[in-house]
Amino acid sequence: MNSGHRFKTVHDAQSLFYHEKKGFVYGRWENPNTLEYVRKLCTLEDYPDGIATTTGMAAITAVFLGLLKSGDHIVYCDALFGTSRKLIKDFLPRWGIQSTAVPASASGSMWQKAITDQTKLIYLETPSNPDLSIIDLSMICTIANPAHVLVCVDNSFATPYLQNPQKWGVDITIHSATKFIDGQGRTLAGVVLANEELMRSIKAFAETTGPSLSPFSAWLLSKSLETLSIRMQKHCENAQKVMQYLLAHSQVASVRYPFHPSHPSYEVARKQMRLGGGLVTFDLKQGYEAGIKMIEKLSLFTFTANLGDSKTLITHPASTTHSKLSQEERFKLGIGDAMIRVSVGLEHIDDILTEFDRIL
Ligand SMILES: *Cc1c(COP(=O)(O)O)cnc(C)c1O
Repeated sequence: MNSGHRFKTVHDAQSLFYHEKKGFVYGRWENPNTLEYVRKLCTLEDYPDGIATTTGMAAITAVFLGLLKSGDHIVYCDALFGTSRKLIKDFLPRWGIQSTAVPASASGSMWQKAITDQTKLIYLETPSNPDLSIIDLSMICTIANPAHVLVCVDNSFATPYLQNPQKWGVDITIHSATKFIDGQGRTLAGVVLANEELMRSIKAFAETTGPSLSPFSAWLLSKSLETLSIRMQKHCENAQKVMQYLLAHSQVASVRYPFHPSHPSYEVARKQMRLGGGLVTFDLKQGYEAGIKMIEKLSLFTFTANLGDSKTLITHPASTTHSKLSQEERFKLGIGDAMIRVSVGLEHIDDILTEFDRIL
């Protein structure tokens, strides 16, 4: 826990400042704890370099503003975390960066058509928040790599345990480590991972603007990564059982889970993910009011906008996170009036299903 590092001699300080020597200078750049956290994620995601950030949004912002300039264009999938969409649609145009949205169901030729001479970056998340859309990473990279368009993927829902975007040719992977990487609802954090050349630009922006992760948070996350595999394994096992339970329930109209054959991109999910993930979404047969009534009955589950905790978390997007959108806009994003998003926790499965029995 410190902010600046002590130099041994003036010569030593100069070598550090001129990057002739590797070492720690100042906490806004790097610290032994943040380096350990980044190095672990570089290993897990198979990238040579990376940077720790205070939040997932800071990681995404560092990618956009570190790599793009006025006149550039990005193509993104509209099945996207709401705040990421807001950054692209409401803020990037202020700096002259335009964008085109493509639906999650788009074919390769639709992605291809969205790319212009100005396109520098394709941005997407898979599985997406909250509707669990799956995008074929191999298809995207086959289009983007030859055209010299960079691909950046938000891998927060899958974590490196379930999916490695780099394997398919993705240039930049980011995480909101706030979610499953911490996995216990204790800290906000993010990470950007890429090759050294891309990281030079991204780091230059981040080190100048200062979204630096605290050493304490980095230490928490380093410890979290030691249990990532067993936590993800259990999240997925429980989620699979929740999915089966919900599919058989009379109050449930439909269930969405990447590893269920009814998912529109089931084959792609099987190809690029090790397991189906810790999130399940479902629609109640009755509408909006039923969604609210169910939330009001909660006892074991926590009603929160967060996800990826050891406890089961639940939200009703139509009345909370997506309540500012019109019903038409929500439907376009696949968010129905009575859609419920469950981040399945690590509790005993009997306790989880007993709570569902009660609230449904
Ligand atoms: C939460 C989330 C983010 C933003 O992360 P913060 O740590 O809250 O800034 C980005 N992408 C996805 C998919 C998320 O779920």
